[in-house]
Amino acid sequence: MSEAKRFVYADNAATTAVSPSVLRAMEPYYTTHYGNPSSLYSIGQAAKRSLEAARRDVAECLNADPNEIFFTSGGSEADNWAIKGAAHLLAQKGKKHIITTKFEHHAVLHACAALEKEGFEVTYLEVHSNGVVRPEEVEAAIREDTALVTIMYANNEIGTLQPIREIGEICRRRGVWFHTDAVQAAGNVPIDVKEQNIDMLSLSAHKFHGPKGVGLLYIRKGIVLPNLIDGGAQERSRRAGTENVAGIIGLSTALKEACATMQERGERLTKMRDRLIAGALQIERSRLNGDSVRRLPGNVSLCFEGIEGESLLLLLDLEGVCASSGSACTSGSLDPSHVLLSIGLPHEVAHGSLRLSFSDGNTEEDVDYILERLPRIVERLRAMSPLWETIKSKNIQYDIREF
Ligand SMILES: *Cc1c(COP(=O)(O)O)cnc(C)c1O
Repeated sequence: MSEAKRFVYADNAATTAVSPSVLRAMEPYYTTHYGNPSSLYSIGQAAKRSLEAARRDVAECLNADPNEIFFTSGGSEADNWAIKGAAHLLAQKGKKHIITTKFEHHAVLHACAALEKEGFEVTYLEVHSNGVVRPEEVEAAIREDTALVTIMYANNEIGTLQPIREIGEICRRRGVWFHTDAVQAAGNVPIDVKEQNIDMLSLSAHKFHGPKGVGLLYIRKGIVLPNLIDGGAQERSRRAGTENVAGIIGLSTALKEACATMQERGERLTKMRDRLIAGALQIERSRLNGDSVRRLPGNVSLCFEGIEGESLLLLLDLEGVCASSGSACTSGSLDPSHVLLSIGLPHEVAHGSLRLSFSDGNTEEDVDYILERLPRIVERLRAMSPLWETIKSKNIQYDIREF
């Protein structure tokens, strides 16, 4: 007998629910401690003290110094500041080359594209069929005029983890700055900016049960990026504007919680992830995207031949399951995800993609529920698909690039 309908939120890579303790920690900064941190009277100074305590707390989670932390409005802002700031600064020294990968988040790819229009040159590295960039290829791409390497820690669609420490070591040795978009990694896998040789790092609170609209850029001491916003003296005058105090308290509370529970949550989510993958791969002509081990604990990314990811999402939604197909930014367009194409999938296969991402609120019962519904939904869609008919009758073998 089939289980009763549930609500399963399996799109934690898109955003997460604010945890109750984070909300409780934020609330006083809207009600009683609403002072402006730049004001000299006591409620202003109390807000200032809380803000600086939050800065110390997040610095500790990353093994950074508090004065290396610059709060921003989120991950996209931090990525843009790091990349455009470093590029504009180092262009003055004749360095106008940037290295990144083909499967970055659009905040990074489009920042690089904007720089290309200004005359910068960008190398887009392969991430290979397993979704992992090879450090020796980063090294080989470095030139005399390379200003910056920007490579994400964990991919937002396929969850693969990059060899950050090794890439950072190469950049340090070759005198090139290294930025990493750690928006998906923060709170899920350990980050140590010193040990991993990271010069700049972006993260965003809403991906680890903090509020939307707040993030940070870690900028290693010694790097003085051009100001992002001119104005008051906030964020050491580099990013002016009255601080989002409640949001920053939310960010620090959420990051501390995520880091304190990382190990235990990682083990729990990895078990759920691997059981879901094993079950889903029982469906004929399905595949897992990205390395099966080097991936975020909560990320499952699959492709099913002969169907459209969007139709799959609609039917899953009818069953109460929130998931994603490709990244949220590309849904609505007909192009398959640039991430899936970058790992060698042909368009036809990439179209049938499904990402399920778990976090704190998910349970083994969610896995059971998805495994019960998913095969029937895929079967139903295939029964209506002329494409599937052809694939089956002609036994079409897609050319999946292994490299
Ligand atoms: C969500 C995300 C971003 C954007 O962060 P926002 O805070 O939503 O601007 C950037 N990079 C990655 C990898 C992400 O997953």
